[in-house]
Amino acid sequence: MAEGEIQVLVVGGGIGGLSLAGFLQRAGVDPVVVERAEGRPDRPGVVELWPDAVRLLSRLDVGRKVRDAGVDVTRWARRRPDGTVAERLTASDEFGFLAVDYARLLTVLRGAVADGTVHEGSTLRSLDPGRGSVAVELANGVREQFDVVIGADGVRSRTREVLGGDGATFCGTTSVAFPLPDGVELGAAGEVWTADGAVFRAVPNGHGGAAWLTVPSKVPGQGVDDAGALAGLCPTVDWLLPEAAEAVDAGDLWWADDFRVPTDEWVDGRVALLGDAAHARHRLTGVGATLAIEDAAVLAAELVGGDDAPAARLADYAARRRSRLDRPDAGARAGAPLAGIESELAERHPAIPAVRGGRLAACFGGDPPTPATALGGSDGERSSGDRGR
Ligand SMILES: Cc1cc2nc3c(=O)[nH]c(=O)nc-3n(C[C@H](O)[C@H](O)[C@H](O)COP(=O)(O)OP(=O)(O)OC[C@H]3O[C@@H](n4cnc5c(N)ncnc54)[C@H](O)[C@@H]3O)c2cc1C
Repeated sequence: MAEGEIQVLVVGGGIGGLSLAGFLQRAGVDPVVVERAEGRPDRPGVVELWPDAVRLLSRLDVGRKVRDAGVDVTRWARRRPDGTVAERLTASDEFGFLAVDYARLLTVLRGAVADGTVHEGSTLRSLDPGRGSVAVELANGVREQFDVVIGADGVRSRTREVLGGDGATFCGTTSVAFPLPDGVELGAAGEVWTADGAVFRAVPNGHGGAAWLTVPSKVPGQGVDDAGALAGLCPTVDWLLPEAAEAVDAGDLWWADDFRVPTDEWVDGRVALLGDAAHARHRLTGVGATLAIEDAAVLAAELVGGDDAPAARLADYAARRRSRLDRPDAGARAGAPLAGIESELAERHPAIPAVRGGRLAACFGGDPPTPATALGGSDGERSSGDRGR
């Protein structure tokens, strides 16, 4: 580490933590990343990256690799339970969103940070934010001092817990991820919003398709491990779900309860939270990965720029991001497609269709997405061009 360089510990090597490490390294700062998991992530499922996030990742020189790892989704349809189309959107720009396997995205992001940056199988035991630095103890007993510590450790953030922040809140839904059967070639992404509050989503992922089923549940822990029970979770949906349930192996089902994190306490002196640790939303909003990448870009810009004390830079980061989160659907315009989403789900979880609808409208049919320049710094490699898919 160069003399005088700010010493940064990033807890969590997921989407936000790796992006932050990449942005910092390109600005000459070499952070330490501790990641609890070891080896290739086994979390299945597809995340949606909106165009502004893909542009930001282009600054890490992985824009092309990210595009190649995923599928540009240019068409989206809201369907009725019988599969007929209720609403259809076509991207007005290059693509509406990029659908990319979580594990493949992490592999690409790992390639964007220097070897030796990420310490796997390592986690945080305690923090002591002193006046001049933060004393950190890792679970393996190693003690070190850092100028700042960034908690990018996801929805169940240990960093947030150590800071005394509120825990994650159960959203009242459980989601199950599973692959679509071989031979199903989805031309467009599709979503079914049922009257009883369930949502079935299917997106192309480059090797067929990936599906999510989100169902209301009164208490956590009600997922299914049994493929036979899958269709029974949502008997009203005829579109793709019955045949997927028939074909899926139990080992390919993966379920998780949905949690969100209140967006209040982000910064405590020299410690700040990023991504889901700071502001996890229901995964149906589809904005978590994009917001984590945006956080990382803004935070890196704050940490490497200016002469303010580290705590002041973190406070500026939080202020900038809070104002962004106050308008997560920025870019949506009145009268845009989806303004008319009406379902019981919308009544039960108004924030979900509002955020998701705003994003879809902005990226498929409405105003251009937030320019990367508004998030700090200039754009490097542009990820334009058709991959011929
Ligand atoms: C189960 C699930 C499914 C999702 N599905 C979708 C989807 O379909 N579409 C979509 O857009 N978004 C989805 N999301 C949201 C999206 O994945 C997140 O918003 C995004 O990954 C946030 O990035 P992050 O860096 O904040 O957290 P993550 O990417 O979750 O990274 C957190 C990292 O921290 C590590 N970690 C955790 N605790 C510790 C610790 N104590 N010490 C060290 N490391 C630690 C974890 O192993 C992980 O690598 C899903 C989220 C979850 C949890």
